[in-house]
Amino acid sequence: MTVYSGPVFDMAAKQFAIIADHLSIPLDERDRLLLPKRAVTVSCPIRRDDGTVMVFEGYRVQHLLTRGPTKGGTRFAPTVGLGEVAALAIWMSWKCALVGLPYGGAKGGVSVDPSAISKRELEALSRRYMQEMIPFVGPHTDVMAPDMGTNEQIMAWFMDTYSMHYGHTVMEIVTGKPLSAGGTLGRREATGRGVAYLAKRVLNDLAINLNGATAVVQGFGNVGSFAALELHRYGVKVIAVSDHTGALYSASGLDIPDLFRHAERHGSLAGYSSELQYDPRAVLTLACDVLVPAAIERVIDGDIAKRLRCRVLAEAANGPTTPEADLVLEQRRDEIFLIPDILCNAGGVVVSYFEWVQDLQQLFWEENEVTQRECQILDRAFDQVVTRARRDNVAHRTAASAIGVERVRAAKTVRGLFP
Ligand code: NAD
Repeated sequence: MTVYSGPVFDMAAKQFAIIADHLSIPLDERDRLLLPKRAVTVSCPIRRDDGTVMVFEGYRVQHLLTRGPTKGGTRFAPTVGLGEVAALAIWMSWKCALVGLPYGGAKGGVSVDPSAISKRELEALSRRYMQEMIPFVGPHTDVMAPDMGTNEQIMAWFMDTYSMHYGHTVMEIVTGKPLSAGGTLGRREATGRGVAYLAKRVLNDLAINLNGATAVVQGFGNVGSFAALELHRYGVKVIAVSDHTGALYSASGLDIPDLFRHAERHGSLAGYSSELQYDPRAVLTLACDVLVPAAIERVIDGDIAKRLRCRVLAEAANGPTTPEADLVLEQRRDEIFLIPDILCNAGGVVVSYFEWVQDLQQLFWEENEVTQRECQILDRAFDQVVTRARRDNVAHRTAASAIGVERVRAAKTVRGLFP
């Protein structure tokens, strides 16, 4: 038991144990790699519109500082807790190491339903959360970014709050900002674009024609909507999408650009069409070429894994597949090509890294340069994962995490144990 124990942290710990066994890491080295370096819990009081005061709990976990500053998103959701944030920080560490970024993993969040408070209250909460975090974060200590329930506007408030404290603009304290406040071209699209790019690569490798291929996307927020849009642009037929309000299905393919505009205007898929309504619980097990879970953790359990009918599982969300489901997928390795989360959604942190570099240098790039470099990094990591999986005869998740853990371990070993 640790202070982080809970379903999501236990899942990250279980996955790590598998990798540590695979890499024959001595037992006395394992806690040093797994347990977060620092964790902060803060209380964020805000005045509600009705004049009352309400306190929200916020968290930030910095997993390891061995390879550079920590980097990771901030999640605003009612379910957010210390264990979930710690697990997400750990996955970020393996991800950053896998794609070769000079970062350790971090994650933060506030336990709040952002749709249940007003815009003024959301701004007050965002600013108060950042204010409470100022002693713990910094452009060379810990750099925040968006995640579920947060967006460019919230990143702008974070950056402004930090900058007001120091008396000058510090753009590089957060990434995923609006372009007008030091953001980079291509960041908004980066995660979903990377997911679709890797899925396309696998379809090509499997000799599945993009025109006529089908996809299903769970979650239609930042990541899911851009993944769907990009797949649609490649000629793939997106036959179903879902979000927390419901699901839509059309055998002949949904009009994704139209749905995108609807979600942008209304904040969700709700109210788009009553004819296309579908059972959200059945979305993941629809027959399709590419399945993209792009919502929350642990949606694919052992039972669903047995019933999956996709050729490619492109994990856009963090931790969508449980270790029990992994055992099933292991047996179905020849039927389902897994692109594991730390590889599949890494385009987001890659372009966040580009944004940080551009802010530090005050030298901004063209969008095609951003996208080209993002794809180059994803291609390299993809090659390394597939080669490693083949060499060691292991699942893609094991190969990806093993590369990440190995790189972190090498940095820790060479730096030594302080003091
Ligand atoms: P978001 O808040 O923009 O969107 C989340 C979407 O999931 C929404 O459409 C929401 O309605 C939907 N959703 C929530 N619960 C659901 C449920 N039970 N069933 C179906 N849909 C549900 O968040 P996002 O930034 O798109 O993040 C989605 C996932 O991608 C998360 O796991 C996040 O950690 C991961 N991720 C995000 C980024 C990024 O750059 N934003 C980068 C890497 C990974």
